[in-house]
Amino acid sequence: MEAFVELLCPECTKHWEATPAALPDTDESFDCPDCGERRPLSEFARTTRDLEVLREAPS
Ligand SMILES: [Zn+2]
Repeated sequence: MEAFVELLCPECTKHWEATPAALPDTDESFDCPDCGERRPLSEFARTTRDLEVLREAPS
């Protein structure tokens, strides 16, 4: 079963789910699909658990 992580944009508060395999490393920049805000992916993780799942996912 593939894990999902919850993402939350710190700029526009868009909230969505994604699979870690479709995302870059947590220290790489990521663009919000709604407002285009660019930050390290780690800042889009909604909770500490989501951040941990992202960090543990192979990429
Ligand atoms: Zn946004």
